[in-house]
Amino acid sequence: MNTTEVSSPSRFTPLAYSGFDQLPIAGRWRRGRSQKVNRDRNPFTGDILLEIPQASREDLDEAYAAALKAQPAWAALLPAERAAVMRRAASVMEARRDEVISWLIREAGSTRIKASLEWDSSHSVMLEAATLPYLVEGRILPSDIPGKESRVYRNPVGVVGVISPWNWPFHLTARSLFPALAVGNAVVVKPASDTPVTGGLLPAKILEEAGLPPGVLSVIVGAGSEVGDAFVTHPTPRVISFTGSTPVGRRIAKLAADAVILKRVDLELGGNTPFVVLDDADLGHAVEAAVFGKFLHQGQICMSANRFIVDDSVYDEFLDGFADRVRKLKVGDPDQPDTLIGPIINEKQLEGLEQHIQQARTSGARQVVGGDPQGLVLPPHVFADVSNDQPIARDELFGPVAPVIRAHGEEEALQLANDTSYGLSSAVFTEEPGRGVRFAQRMQAGMTHVNDQPVNDLPFNPFGGEKNSGIGRFNGRWAVEAFTTDHWVTVQLVPRRYPVDANELHGAWGGG
Ligand code: NAD
Repeated sequence: MNTTEVSSPSRFTPLAYSGFDQLPIAGRWRRGRSQKVNRDRNPFTGDILLEIPQASREDLDEAYAAALKAQPAWAALLPAERAAVMRRAASVMEARRDEVISWLIREAGSTRIKASLEWDSSHSVMLEAATLPYLVEGRILPSDIPGKESRVYRNPVGVVGVISPWNWPFHLTARSLFPALAVGNAVVVKPASDTPVTGGLLPAKILEEAGLPPGVLSVIVGAGSEVGDAFVTHPTPRVISFTGSTPVGRRIAKLAADAVILKRVDLELGGNTPFVVLDDADLGHAVEAAVFGKFLHQGQICMSANRFIVDDSVYDEFLDGFADRVRKLKVGDPDQPDTLIGPIINEKQLEGLEQHIQQARTSGARQVVGGDPQGLVLPPHVFADVSNDQPIARDELFGPVAPVIRAHGEEEALQLANDTSYGLSSAVFTEEPGRGVRFAQRMQAGMTHVNDQPVNDLPFNPFGGEKNSGIGRFNGRWAVEAFTTDHWVTVQLVPRRYPVDANELHGAWGGG
C-alpha cells in the first residue's frame, strides 16, 4: 500500500498549500481537461482568487475508474489503519487551522465566527470518522434450515459520489467524505462551483498529507452542464450522497433511478425552519437565540430560522427585543472577529432575496428593520405581521431576512409550523421542558430543539430531514448505514434434503 508518512503536523508550522488550479484526479494533481474555467471569487471583495481549468467527462471517467481500482486495497486495510488516516487528517487540520479558516472567509464569504465554527464541526467529523471503522458489524442469524449457518456481512458499498453545496462547504463535504472513507469506500467529490477549494480541493490536500492512498479520492471541479448528470448516472458509484437544494435533489433522484445501474441516493435538502415562541417562553433567551439562529452566515444555512411564529400574548415584546438586537448587529467585512453578517455568496442569490423583500413590502408585511445592499452585503431585514402563505414565509429564504408571524395559542402555532412542504430543523421556546418536548414530538421535522436555536449538528446524532427536506441521515451509525451494505451469506454444513413430493413439505423450507 502506497501511503505517505506524516511528520507530526502539530509540531511544525506548515507552508500554505498551493496548486489549487489543479485537481486531484486518479492519484495525481493535474489540470482539468475541459475548455471551461472556474473563476473562484471572493464574494466580499469581488477579487478572483483562482482560475481553475475544469474537469471534462474524460476526467470524470478517469476519477471513477481509479476509485474502483483503489477501493479494494483501501477496504482491506485494518480498521486501525483507516482510523489512523482519519486521526492524522484531524491533526493536519489542527496545524492548518488558520489556513482553513482564511479560505472559508475568502472563498465562501464566511464571517470569522462562522468559519471558526465550521472548522470546529469539520474537525469533529474527522475525529468521529476515526471511530467508524469499528462500528461496521456483521451478524450470525438464527437459521430454520438444519445444518445451515446464516451470516450477514456488512461491507462498504464500493465507490461513493459526494455532491456538496457552497454554504457550509468544508463540513458538508467532510460529513459525507470522511465517514464514507472510514468504512472502506473510495470517493469522488464534486464541490459547488462557488467553493471549489473549501468544498473539495482543500479537504483533498489534507487527506493526502494524512496519508490517504492515491486514487482513493478524486475531486471533480466541473460545470453542471458538462459533468453534472454524468457524475450521478455513471455506472461506478453505488451511492450518491447529495447535499443541496430540493429541486436539484429531486433531479439527482430521478437521474439515479434512470441510470443504467440503479444506485442509492441520500438527499439532504432545503428547509423552512419554524422558530416557535410560546406564551411562557423566556423572551430574553429566545431573542438571543433568534439572532444567532437567523443571522449566522447571513442566514445561508439549511437549518437557519426561516419563520418566527410567536404567540400573540408575547408577540410585541419579542418583536421589539428582536428588532432592537438586530439593528445593533455588525454587518460588512467578514474578516472582522465581531461581524455577524457578511456577504451573500453571489448576485443570483442576492437578486432572489431582493425580490422576496420587494414582494413582502407590497403584500402588506410591515418592515421593522432593513437597509440597502452594499456590494453583496445585504443588511438584516425584519418583517412583522407576515402571514404563513406569503412567499417570504413559504419559500426557503437563505438570507438575512426574518419574517415574524403571529399565532393565537399553541395549537395554531403548531399548525403554522407544520404548514410547509419542508421538514428539516425546528425550534420551540417554552419555560416548561415537558411542554416543549410534547410540542416537538408533534412537529413534522427531522430535528427539533427545545429552547435552543435550530442550527445544530453534532457527531453521533442523526442529522436529516422529512418531507421535501430529504431522505436519509448523517453522522455516527447512520453514516455507517448509509455507506455500507449487507451481504447475506449462508453455509450449508451438512447435505440438505430437497423435497420431491409436496406431501413431504412440513416445517420451514425457506425457499422463495
Ligand atoms: P444546489 O442544489 O444549487 O447545488 C448543490 C450542488 O449540486 C452543487 O455542487 C451543484 O454544482 C450540484 N449540482 C447542480 N445540478 C447538478 C446536477 N444536475 N448533477 C449533479 N450535481 C449538480 O444548492 P446550493 O445553492 O449549492 O446550496 C443551497 C441549498 O442547499 C439550500 O437549499 C440549502 O437548504 C441546501 N442545504 C441543505 C443542507 C442539509 O443538510 N439539508 C445543508 C446545506 C445546504
